[in-house]
Amino acid sequence: MARPSSGEAVRRDDVGMSASPSPATAIDLPAARASAIAPRLTALGARYDAAPVFPIESMKCLADAGLHRCFAPVASGGHDFGSVDAWHLCLFNVLRIIGRADLSVGRLYEGHVNAMILFDRFGSATQHHGLGQRLDAGAFYGMWATEPPPGVQMIGRVLKGAKSFATGAGGLVHAIITVQPEDGARRLIVVAADDAARADLSQWRVRGMRATGSGLYDLTDMIVAEDDLLGGPGDYDREPLFTTGAWRFTAVQLGGIEALLIETRKAMSDAARGDPMQRAKFADAVAATRTAYLWVREAALRAAREDADGPAFARMTRGVVERAALDVMELAARIVGTRSAMDGQRIDKISRDVSLYLRQGGPDYARDQAALTWLDHDAWGAEDTLW
Ligand SMILES: Cc1cc2nc3c(=O)[nH]c(=O)nc-3n(C[C@H](O)[C@H](O)[C@H](O)COP(=O)(O)OP(=O)(O)OC[C@H]3O[C@@H](n4cnc5c(N)ncnc54)[C@H](O)[C@@H]3O)c2cc1C
Repeated sequence: MARPSSGEAVRRDDVGMSASPSPATAIDLPAARASAIAPRLTALGARYDAAPVFPIESMKCLADAGLHRCFAPVASGGHDFGSVDAWHLCLFNVLRIIGRADLSVGRLYEGHVNAMILFDRFGSATQHHGLGQRLDAGAFYGMWATEPPPGVQMIGRVLKGAKSFATGAGGLVHAIITVQPEDGARRLIVVAADDAARADLSQWRVRGMRATGSGLYDLTDMIVAEDDLLGGPGDYDREPLFTTGAWRFTAVQLGGIEALLIETRKAMSDAARGDPMQRAKFADAVAATRTAYLWVREAALRAAREDADGPAFARMTRGVVERAALDVMELAARIVGTRSAMDGQRIDKISRDVSLYLRQGGPDYARDQAALTWLDHDAWGAEDTLW
């Protein structure tokens, strides 16, 4: 994950500058760029929600700002942040900012970053070089693991089966997918994701996250070249990387919660602001949002340090963020009233997007696994254990 290298702090062509930036500028730059394009992503998001297609203009905005490249491997032109903490904190901010603007684009971007991390961890020098060239052309990647049974099989070098919930199916240029070979553990391969004939979005008729186009993608009869094999068997499921990585989608979800809080405050009339009951609800919404912020930020740092309790922390964070989102959605509706449910209102779109995006795999199982860890020992950390 663009781990610190002895190379140049930031590629100049990547950031379009003529003088070397201070280290602080280099770290803050992606977040500043995300903030600069956020209003445009918000406006486009409303349009893609009303008439859902792959959000090509939003993705172009991200690429024009260099955000498709900054979290790529350094060998592929990614920024060198100097430390893994800095890398993670910057990504934490960028994911929140994009999520605040449009959760569908946040989901697409998060999938792309996930793919960049897998390239960084498991890609060969040749694959890093090829990735750099594709990023030069503005390519975005997806990461597709979810599949209807029996899943995608690789027989020899030929694929059979489909992926479901495949965000960007038919719109993204490439995706990394999991496949089950005839022998051994599942592994990762890179496939073309832009074949419209393989994509089936007919079932993606959803109340939120419409522009993600998370449909089916049929991989049957696709042939896998040697260079498309990424890493070895079992690499995708390596811990703590696999489970701890959930912090990234919680960061995008957090962006949605923050946007809801911002819009709720804006929508509060003078009468509502003058009423202690409404103010108490607003205070609850602030506390829920910032509680989620603190957990996600900490989960990001645990991921950076490859903390053995990172998976438990990420799993607990999922539940904390889900609870905060559900609370803020309820509070927003109760503070703002019927306007919060009207077509064209931003609170309505964000609530619809958040409510679907919260539905990630096995939420009860995640919370239960976190509880088992905490029962065994205080996963909060060695500096401050309660038992
Ligand atoms: C907008 C969006 C985009 C997505 N994009 C991608 C993507 O690009 N790539 C990708 O790989 N995936 C993607 N996903 C899929 C995602 O990662 C999850 O797999 C999916 O959302 C889980 O859906 P579910 O709620 O139906 O899951 P489930 O895990 O089936 O949960 C449904 C319910 O059943 C319960 N349940 C499930 N299993 C058990 C069990 N064994 N015992 C008891 N109860 C159980 C759960 O607690 C839950 O209440 C996306 C999902 C969304 C919503």
